Amino acid sequence: METLINLNDLLKHEIMDLYSAEEQIIEALPGMIEKAKNPELKKALRGHLKITEEQKKRLDKIKNFFGEDGEEGGGKGFFSRLFGSSGGEKCKGMEGLIKEGEKFMKADITDEALDAAIIASAQKIEHYEICGYGTARAFARELNLPAVEKLLTQTLNEEYNSDDLLTELAVGKLNLKAELADDSTNGRLGRSNRTDKKPIIVKVSSSKSVSKSSSKPATKKPSKPGVKISSNGVSKGSSKSKGSKKAATRPR
Ligand code: FE
Ligand code: FE
Repeated sequence: METLINLNDLLKHEIMDLYSAEEQIIEALPGMIEKAKNPELKKALRGHLKITEEQKKRLDKIKNFFGEDGEEGGGKGFFSRLFGSSGGEKCKGMEGLIKEGEKFMKADITDEALDAAIIASAQKIEHYEICGYGTARAFARELNLPAVEKLLTQTLNEEYNSDDLLTELAVGKLNLKAELADDSTNGRLGRSNRTDKKPIIVKVSSSKSVSKSSSKPATKKPSKPGVKISSNGVSKGSSKSKGSKKAATRPR
């Protein structure tokens, strides 16, 4: 890591970290889009890929702005020092989050559970970005760099919106489908048509482990009063679809 002396150096580091994070997301999203089954989820991820490409360009703008324009410090050699060096390190935080998400995509998992897992992974990524952009914006504000602050705010708002959209898809919709998923429904044995009887443990990062075997579905069959099941396994009139959506996932 480069030598870090003051808040300017921390801003540089944060911008480079976010740049690496966005690059990795652009690389990972096509795989998530391909694996997602729900059309609305696919559409949301596709939309976010386009937004992410713009966000990377916005970070380029921040780097170029200060590297080439003296208006906000470049003239004093201040930002030319910040961004003049060759690229930054790979963001290990984002690398880890993406790897965690990819585990689900390689697992023996039903379509419904995978969609819910993809949303969970995408939201962990969004929350990392919200934290990073929020921090960078606070640094820019402290350093009295309004142009940088404005660009970072634009991206931060986009990340919040993406997070909200994912929550809307998960709560009461795709989480519910995953809750009701049954790998014996319609004779389906899950995505990979697994035939062995060995139990498989899917490790879930929220400290929960879900055990499943081919002869016994992991997800319990819904027997709660008030939950009606239609032929495709999607509940109608479940009380689970009600309640606060935002409280579930959004850290503010
Ligand atoms: Fe982003
Ligand atoms: Fe994002």
